[in-house]
Amino acid sequence: MIYFVGAGPGAVDLITVRGRTLLEQADVVIYAGSLVNPEHLSVTKKECVIYDSAKMTLEDVIAVMVPAERAGKKVVRLHTGDPSIYGAIREQMDLLDEEKIPYEVVPGVSSFFGAAASLKKEYTLPDISQTVIITRMEGRTPVPPKEDIALLASHQATMAIFLSTGMLDNLSAKLIAGGYTADTPTAIVYKATWPDEKHFHCTVGTLAQTARDNQITKTALILVGWFLGDVYDRSKLYDPTFTHEFREGNDSRS
Ligand code: SAH
Repeated sequence: MIYFVGAGPGAVDLITVRGRTLLEQADVVIYAGSLVNPEHLSVTKKECVIYDSAKMTLEDVIAVMVPAERAGKKVVRLHTGDPSIYGAIREQMDLLDEEKIPYEVVPGVSSFFGAAASLKKEYTLPDISQTVIITRMEGRTPVPPKEDIALLASHQATMAIFLSTGMLDNLSAKLIAGGYTADTPTAIVYKATWPDEKHFHCTVGTLAQTARDNQITKTALILVGWFLGDVYDRSKLYDPTFTHEFREGNDSRS
């Protein structure tokens, strides 16, 4: 069996119990060395063989997985955050299907959850935004034209922008073209949950300069929207006057 495991955003104790147990049992681990905290490897068995996928192609990865699995070994493919977000796992799973090799996916804490925790913010606030758009700027990897940042920005929903720290002038221009005002609150979260995490509050207009001033060029998430502000309505769920399945409200009008 091959296990695609989410390592979590950085802090070594933010992997799931299931993921940690699989790492302890693994005979082979292929980890994304550019972003996965190498401390995760300290729980592996002495004889476990470890590969850093940063130096490997998709074919190299499959060429390690297939013979190992056929020899009855337990293989863990360790991805940063959650494997379903920019993890390039689909192409691995499709090649494993061709080889009739079984696999499972173990979810992880994505960095955009780690970032909200670091900022102590909630992405979904009543009356402010009930939607989170997870996206990226187009770089060397294309983004479908219908998902251009300016089009997505027109919703004024909460945005969590991955893989874009090198393109912040352009990102800012697109956010403004899409309808966000230059004063919209924005945060840069660098290495969320790692010991050297940093975060910066700025605005859509000051985003690129803030990153330059603080030498942030990679491993950061850009979070945009008024969820970072201080104005919102209370939730209905915990409103004393609101009745729902588990609690009778005390509204004298009802
Ligand atoms: N699967 C991962 C994302 C991989 S794409 C996840 O669920 O988080 C890599 C991008 O994720 C980076 O360019 C950066 O934008 C973001 N990223 C990953 N780890 C991060 C962290 N700890 N803090 C901030 N951003 C992070």
